[in-house]
Amino acid sequence: MSSAASSVSAAYDTVLRRNPGELEFHQAAKEVLDSLMPVVERHPEYLDAGILERICEPERQIIFRVTWMDDAGRVQLNRGFRVQYNSVLGPYKGGLRFHPSVRLGTIKFLGFEQIFKNALTGLPIGGGKGGSDFDPKGKSDAEVMRFCQSFMTELHRHIGAETDVPAGDIGVGGREIGYLFGQYKRLHNRYESGVLTGKSPAWGGSLARTEATGYGTVIFAQQMLKTKNRSLDGARVIVSGSGNVAIYATEKAQQLGATVVGLSDSSGYVYDPDGIDLELIKQIKEIERGRISDYVARRGGRAELRTSGKVWDIAREEGGADVALPCATQNELDENDVRSLLDGGCAAVAEGANMPCTPEAVELLHQNGVLFAPGKAANAGGVATSALEMQQNASRDTWTFDYTADRLEQIMVNVHEQCAQTAEEYGKPGDYVLGANIAGFTKVADAMLALGVI
Ligand code: NDP
Repeated sequence: MSSAASSVSAAYDTVLRRNPGELEFHQAAKEVLDSLMPVVERHPEYLDAGILERICEPERQIIFRVTWMDDAGRVQLNRGFRVQYNSVLGPYKGGLRFHPSVRLGTIKFLGFEQIFKNALTGLPIGGGKGGSDFDPKGKSDAEVMRFCQSFMTELHRHIGAETDVPAGDIGVGGREIGYLFGQYKRLHNRYESGVLTGKSPAWGGSLARTEATGYGTVIFAQQMLKTKNRSLDGARVIVSGSGNVAIYATEKAQQLGATVVGLSDSSGYVYDPDGIDLELIKQIKEIERGRISDYVARRGGRAELRTSGKVWDIAREEGGADVALPCATQNELDENDVRSLLDGGCAAVAEGANMPCTPEAVELLHQNGVLFAPGKAANAGGVATSALEMQQNASRDTWTFDYTADRLEQIMVNVHEQCAQTAEEYGKPGDYVLGANIAGFTKVADAMLALGVI
C-alpha cells in the first residue's frame, strides 16, 4: 500500500475507533476520505501536518439537556447538540435540525459535510451543525416556543456572530428561528442580528434565503445538464420531500420550464402528471403545516396519492423522468431507486438534501453515466445565502430580492465550475463527487497549514 493509501486508511480507522456506532458519520467520512487519495499523493505536506485526522475531529462537541413544559403541564426532556467542527475559514456555520432521529452521529455527519460545502461557496465561513431529538410535528406553537427558549438558554453561551452562527434545517424554519432569536436577545440584552440566519426579512433576515437551497440545487442541475447540451426546459422532474428545499426546488424547476410530477413526505407521495400546483403545496406545507394527502384531496384532477413505494417509482411506472432531486433526508435513494430512474431515462440527479443517495446508489449512477451532484455542492446555495445574510447584518443593510438571487446564482455557477474543473484536473471529468471533495478539502487544508498546529 502506498503511503497516501495507508494514511487515508489510518484516518478512517481512527474515525471508526473514536466514533463507535455513528454510521452516518462513518459513511460521510469514508466518502470524503476515499476521494482524497490523489490529493495527498500530490501534497505530502498535508500528511506531515496530520490534516486528515485533524479534519475528521470536531474542534468542540456540546451536548446538553433540554427540559420544557408541554401544554398539559407535563415535564418533557430532549437532548440538544452543537458540533463546532472547523473554524479555519470563519465562524462555525450550519443549521439546527429538530427531528426525533437526531443523534450525535447525525450532527457529526452533517457538520463534517458542512466544512467542505462552506469552503466551496468561497465565503468566509467555517463548518458546524446542531439540533435536537425534539419533534416539532404535532406540537402547538406555544410548545415549540417553550422548547426553543429552553434550547437557547443553554446554546446561547456557545454562539455569536463572530463565533458560531446557526440556521435552520429539517424541522427548523422561520417560526423556530424567531423563537430562538427572541430568547438569545432576551438573554444578552443586545440586538445581535448576525447570531442566527434564516430570520424573517421583517426583522433582519435576507430576502431569497427561504428560496436559496432549492433554487441553488436547480441552478446546479441546470449547469450540469448544459455540459451535455440539455436543459430543464420541457424536462419531467421528480422531487422528494415537500419541505423548504423541495418546495423551492420545485418553484425554480418550474420557472425554468420543467414539469415537476412528484413530491413526497414521510407518509407517502403524490404523482401529479399535470405538474405540482405550487401555491397549493405552499399553503398546505408552509402555512397549515399539513400533509401531502391534504394536497391530493384538494388538488383534484389527475393527482394521485400513493402510500406504498417511493416517489422514485414514478420514473419506472409513469412514463419516465429526466431529472431527480432528492430533497428530504439522508439515505432516501438507494440502488433499487436508481434502477427505477434508469428505466425512466433519468439524465441527472442533484442532491438538495444532505447525503440522500446511498454509496451504492451513487456508484450505480456513475456506472451508468448519469450526471450526479453531491449535496455538499448542489445544496450549498442555502448556506451561501446565509453568509449573504450575515454580510447584510454586519453592514446594517438590506438587499433586494433580485440582487441577492443574482449573487446566489453567480455563487452556484462558481461552485459548479470549481467542481468540474477540479474533477478534470484530477483526471476524472464529470465526477462531481471527486471535484467537490477535493476542491473543498484543499481550501480548508491550506488554511489549516497556514494557521499552524491549533
Ligand atoms: P423540512 O423540515 O422543511 O422538510 C423536510 C422534508 O423531508 C419534509 O417533507 C419531511 O416529511 C421529509 N422528511 C424528513 N425526514 C424524513 C424521513 N426520515 N423520511 C421521509 N421523509 C422525510 O427540511 P428542509 O427542506 O430544510 O431540509 C431537507 C434536506 O435538505 C435535509 O437533508 C437538510 O439537511 C437539507 N438542507 C437544507 C437546507 C436549508 O436551507 N433548509 C440547506 C442545505 C441542506 P415530513 O414532514 O413528513 O417529516
